[in-house]
Amino acid sequence: SIPQVEAVIVGGGFSGISAAKKLHEAGLSFAVLEARERLGGRVYTKRFDDKLYLDFGGQWIGPTQDRMYALCHEYGIDYFETYNEGKNILDLGERLKTYRGTIPTLDIFSLLNLDWVIRKLEKLARQIDIHKPWNHPKAAQYDQQSLEDFLRRNTKTKACYQVIRIGCETIFACDPDQLSLLHALFYIRSGTSLDCLINIKNGAQQHRMVGGMQSLIEAMAQPFLEKIRFNSPVRAIRYSSGEALIQCDGFSIKAAHVIVAIPPPLLSEIHFSPPLPSEKQRLLANYPMGKAGKCFMVYQEPFWRKSGFSGQALADDKFAFQTLFDCSPKDGKPGILMAFTLGSRADDFFKKNKTDRQAEMQEMVERYFGKEAASPIRYEDFTMTDEIWARGCYAALMQKNAWSESQDTYRKSTPPLYFAGTEAAVRWHGYIEGAVLAGEAAAAEILASSQYG
Ligand code: FAD
Repeated sequence: SIPQVEAVIVGGGFSGISAAKKLHEAGLSFAVLEARERLGGRVYTKRFDDKLYLDFGGQWIGPTQDRMYALCHEYGIDYFETYNEGKNILDLGERLKTYRGTIPTLDIFSLLNLDWVIRKLEKLARQIDIHKPWNHPKAAQYDQQSLEDFLRRNTKTKACYQVIRIGCETIFACDPDQLSLLHALFYIRSGTSLDCLINIKNGAQQHRMVGGMQSLIEAMAQPFLEKIRFNSPVRAIRYSSGEALIQCDGFSIKAAHVIVAIPPPLLSEIHFSPPLPSEKQRLLANYPMGKAGKCFMVYQEPFWRKSGFSGQALADDKFAFQTLFDCSPKDGKPGILMAFTLGSRADDFFKKNKTDRQAEMQEMVERYFGKEAASPIRYEDFTMTDEIWARGCYAALMQKNAWSESQDTYRKSTPPLYFAGTEAAVRWHGYIEGAVLAGEAAAAEILASSQYG
């Protein structure tokens, strides 16, 4: 006979596991079905034999991500400040420049322009109601244009355009012509402010987990590990008002409720019967993921710190990488530089073989930090774009007109189906915090339904 539980959770990322934690604490019977052989989804701490670990997926948390800090404290996961001292590098053209803080050294006209564009984005974002971005009087107008249209119109110098573009590519993991201006404004507001999204200190990149981000989700899942079925991609969900049959390869489970907490493009690959509402299908037909790759150069020690460098850089398209960060562990052993390649730059980069990819990062770090950068002990890189259970990252991106046409279609529940995942989040949409909040909200909806009241 087919096993039956109160709730099935599809996806063992932060969203699914946060939902499971809540149901577990409430004493509900449930099962988590996870396609991969590991927890974490877009959070992926790759552990190497020699005690080295690298966060191939999401890694940073920062102020106002209250649930993430609370979870760290609850499970005793230690976190530490991202290294953020010394000179940052700006690489636009031939001569390298250095600067301190967030705003790079530019000619005065570019600097004023940059300040003005940032303020304008902040001001527009502050006017957006994150619960209903489509309600803004100019929502349709913002939604008809891309972020790129906005940047082209408002930047008056090449240097200003280059810097703000690099910043946007790093925040959204796409080329700015690949998302609606309204989505960009919503996303900024959802993550508090542009300032907060860009910054290390007092921003979204402030802290990292000792042992890597996956350690946290593993600790969260520990009390109900036996309820998680790995290597179990959900293929079909047949549902009626009070019941669902969830089918995997070779087994099925019955449940009164189903929380679906997976990247949106993967929803289209589950056979829903009856089909998902047509407005949801329309959105899913054009709701692609961003594209990001992380590339790591590992050294005996973070030698750049001794020369007064932070390890941070912003770069134009001479290289495949937009940004560089010091991603060494808490004790600085080993020293690790991590470069992001994003959007179409990532597409081109990952068409090359690994030797050429390493050579490209090598060339960049030698340009910035000299001869010492020539002797890494290891190079690693990773992208989720080709992974069948992610299809990209950091998150799915609302295209032009998608908010106007679809509104809250994505996150809308149609019991017995509840949609979680970071794309269902209102606050910290696209981030791990958002994934947690959306998972907890879906679980709360189930718990609030009358039969458990
Ligand atoms: P996921 O983590 O994608 O989890 C979904 C799970 O569902 C996966 O485990 C998947 O295997 C599974 N699944 C999919 N389809 C099926 C199916 N049919 N059946 C069963 N299981 C299925 N966020 C931050 O806050 N800070 C950062 O520093 C940060 N940096 C990032 C850097 C990179 C390179 C990446 C990839 C992401 C980054 N993010 C960051 C974003 C963050 O990782 C995600 O927002 C968050 O992890 C999403 O969690 P989720 O649970 O919604 O989805």
